[in-house]
Amino acid sequence: MNDPFGRVIDYLRISVTDKCNLRCIYCMPAEGTKPFRQKDILTYEEILRVVKIAAPLGVKKIRITGGEPLARENIPYLISSIKDIHGIENISLTTNGLLLERYANELAAAGLDRVNVSLDSLKPERYKEMTRGGNVLDVLRGIEAAEKAGLSPVKINMVVIRGFNNDEIGDFAKITLNKPYQVRFIEFMPLGAREIWGPEKYVPLSEIKSVVETVAPITPVRLRRSGPARYYRFDGAPGVVGFINAISHQFCGECNRLRMTSDGKLRPCLFSGSEIDLKTPLRSGAPDEEIERLIKLAIEIKPVGHNITCDNTFQHLGPMSKIGG
Ligand code: SAM
Ligand code: SF4
Repeated sequence: MNDPFGRVIDYLRISVTDKCNLRCIYCMPAEGTKPFRQKDILTYEEILRVVKIAAPLGVKKIRITGGEPLARENIPYLISSIKDIHGIENISLTTNGLLLERYANELAAAGLDRVNVSLDSLKPERYKEMTRGGNVLDVLRGIEAAEKAGLSPVKINMVVIRGFNNDEIGDFAKITLNKPYQVRFIEFMPLGAREIWGPEKYVPLSEIKSVVETVAPITPVRLRRSGPARYYRFDGAPGVVGFINAISHQFCGECNRLRMTSDGKLRPCLFSGSEIDLKTPLRSGAPDEEIERLIKLAIEIKPVGHNITCDNTFQHLGPMSKIGG
């Protein structure tokens, strides 16, 4: 379905939980966030009903996210059930990777196509500090397991934060010299956990790219389904580096997505607080036509773009773990 600005909306990101087994400093406060009440979290049957109604409207691509999606029980069941829905062509998962070694084969067997792993440092001590307790070796084993299970191309997403991990940009880029991964650099956005954000911590993509170029020259590559990322390759490398410019060059003009929070709210845009409640109608016996009307409404009110910049104020949109990153 097209939105009023002619964008084709074919991508739904579904957050399946707001809980997480990490506490990344830029995403959650140390004490965690007050979780949604268990009874407010959509059941798998409710999620499947929404996808069944969204698919004939043109949604072809689903991403499962959170919180940490692998911290919710029986995700392979949800994935295989979504995969069975007519019209769904592609299903992917965003994870911190801690539990990926355990689940990679099961996820692949369930029909998962690809996985994005969030990883902000390769240094064990720093990773532990940035995630407040995580073990980077678990994530690295998870990435290997995903590759072996055929969840390819594995994407590694690094949020670059000045003073925390910007000295590792070159090391992340070098991963692509040996592995067929897509290593993607993401600009730090002024949302999530307030205490960490500051304009001085923001590293623009132009700077990230120039650091990558100090490793070796890169040439642009065109990839199918590149989404908001722009990709480059070191000469002869099996992997590619990608740059996701959420802030410095807005990708709103190409935005094809809607989000659904784990408590059943449709969000037309990450940067806008507007939400459409699906949980109440789902639970009060609304017919499919009403759910369809609400999905269409979310598409109709999708804003043309955002005006967030690296130096304007922090966006009080709630933690990314609750919105669904
Ligand atoms: N727990 C999973 C994970 O970490 O991949 C999925 C949810 S997490 C909220 C999704 C993504 O949002 C992660 O890659 C995380 O780095 C990113 N994220 C959270 N807060 C962010 C911020 N302020 N700026 C940029 N990316 C952010
Ligand atoms: Fe958890 Fe992902 Fe947020 Fe880190 S970024 S706290 S892994 S939801």
